[in-house]
Amino acid sequence: MVKIKIHTKYEGAWSNADELLLCLDTGSWRTERPVMDEEKCNYCGLCALYCPTQCMIDMEDQFVPNLDFCKGCGICAKECPRKAIRMLPEGEF
Ligand code: SF4
Ligand code: SF4
Repeated sequence: MVKIKIHTKYEGAWSNADELLLCLDTGSWRTERPVMDEEKCNYCGLCALYCPTQCMIDMEDQFVPNLDFCKGCGICAKECPRKAIRMLPEGEF
């Protein structure tokens, strides 16, 4: 059996409900930005479900990334079944 050594209290796939989660400025990591196509989106929510930083904001008819925390990983674009998300270079904004 493989044992995983926990080095800090934040290295684990759980949170302590008594403490804030570790909060990083992950938006500063981004080199690409997810851009939504409202015409293609059917509000299924998979992008929000798979987003590792959980930064998708529910606008009640679509999801938009909170760019303070979106790290530009592109997982939302990969998982979107309707190809409604394109990753564009940050330099274009
Ligand atoms: S996964 Fe795609 S279709 Fe589903 S809510 Fe997100 S952008 Fe829209
Ligand atoms: S690019 Fe990554 S961090 Fe940004 S919204 Fe998509 S899944 Fe979340």
